[in-house]
Amino acid sequence: MINFTRPDAPLLIETADFGQAKCRNCHEPILRGSWRIRVVFYEEGRFAPGGYVHLGCRTVYFETDEVLDPVLRFSPALTETERAELIRAFDTERTAPNQ
Ligand SMILES: [Zn+2]
Repeated sequence: MINFTRPDAPLLIETADFGQAKCRNCHEPILRGSWRIRVVFYEEGRFAPGGYVHLGCRTVYFETDEVLDPVLRFSPALTETERAELIRAFDTERTAPNQ
C-alpha cells in the first residue's frame, strides 16, 4: 500500500494534454500524450494539487512500486481501454527515463 503518512500521494492518472508540466522527480517536462501521475498533498483536511510525476519516475518518487492500485481506484474516469493500456505501461515503464 501507499504510505499515506506521507503528505503527498498519487491520486490520479491521466494523459498529459499539454507539454508544459515538469516532473516533480526528475524535473524534465512530461511529454504531451504520455501518462502522468497527478500528485496531491493532504494538509489541514483538504487535498491540494501538488504537480505531476512521470509514470517511469513513480517508484523513485513514491518510494514504492505499489502505485497502480491507488491510481486506478482514484481515477474512475478511465475507460476500460485506458485501464488496460495503463496496466501495460506500468509493466514496461519500470525505470526513470533518465536513469
Ligand atoms: Zn520524471
